[in-house]
Amino acid sequence: MSKIILGILGGGQLGSMLSIAAKKLDIETIIYCDDSGAPAQNFCNEFINAPYNNKEKIYEFAKKVDVITYEFENIPFESLNELNKLKTVLPKPSINRLIQHRLAEKDFINKLNIRTTRYVQIENKDDLLPLGDFLPGILKTTTMGYDGKGQYPINDINQIEKLNIDFEKEYILEKLVKLKKEISVIITRFDNNKYEIYEPIENIHQDQILRQSKIPAEISKKLFDQSKEWAILIAEELKYVGTLCVEFFIDRNDNLYVNEIAPRVHNSGHLTINAFNVSQFENHVRAVCSLEQIPLKKLSNAEMINIIGNQIIPYRQNLKLNDNQFLFDYLKKDIKEKRKMGHLTTLK
Ligand code: ADP
Ligand code: MG
Repeated sequence: MSKIILGILGGGQLGSMLSIAAKKLDIETIIYCDDSGAPAQNFCNEFINAPYNNKEKIYEFAKKVDVITYEFENIPFESLNELNKLKTVLPKPSINRLIQHRLAEKDFINKLNIRTTRYVQIENKDDLLPLGDFLPGILKTTTMGYDGKGQYPINDINQIEKLNIDFEKEYILEKLVKLKKEISVIITRFDNNKYEIYEPIENIHQDQILRQSKIPAEISKKLFDQSKEWAILIAEELKYVGTLCVEFFIDRNDNLYVNEIAPRVHNSGHLTINAFNVSQFENHVRAVCSLEQIPLKKLSNAEMINIIGNQIIPYRQNLKLNDNQFLFDYLKKDIKEKRKMGHLTTLK
């Protein structure tokens, strides 16, 4: 039988780790990315560099692969839809469109009777004026945000003038939750009621960027069970195929809220590479390529830290690691402030 060829849209570190997982399963990868310096080109079998709306290149890409997935959500729906006419795109483009839009995403979650933060749609500056009730809050663009980009913390209405907000874009205003903890649950769904789910992961963010993830999460049994239940409900309702991450907030009264859903492998799940028999990446490849589902087994507790900006320099100078430590350098050439350059997982 000839090898399966998996097409991946997006060439960041998640694309790299998907390619590595695919290779282990004897699956080839072709990565399509609009960035000529995309780090995943170091790990895939073939790399296509073109904008996501280039019809010719999209067509060429589709012809070469058997199935298509994506490693980030901000891909134009039209492109995913066009691709889906030629080859199966998983997760389905309609799921990506729903989750890509913060308002549609939160409406969907609330319909499942799952708690989210309080939120309201904002179309212009005047919409904000009567909303003192939602303050302190965070104004977020409805689309295209990540790592806190497109977000404005607002404490009082008088701040709005100074923030120079571009109201050409659409926003939601979210009330700030008094956070006790953040956790995430990663689930890979194969088919109806067929899934592998990882235990909740505890996450620490700084300046809206993930810094550290660890298992076990220090949470009550009730929150452990409820977060997994909600992740399963979301994945089943979406008839999702592949790996999905649900990010949660826990407030000071131990209330659980869904923050957002990522229709893809997730930064908080990097520790699954070393801490489980099957990683979130391998599970994603298995699900979208219709391979065998393998029961998940935890091998170890673990902690992962993101290596950001010039924190990578000492690691690149052969910093000595212990036997229980695993470094992943994303091989990004330009070191930039706030850019995720690599991660380090320590088994505990
Ligand atoms: P992104 O799409 O950039 O990941 P998020 O909405 O997940 O955006 O926000 C990033 C981080 O900012 C969260 O993980 C959390 O630490 C903080 N944050 C965002 N919204 C809220 C909120 N409503 N209340 C408290 N903290 C928040
Ligand atoms: Mg987030």
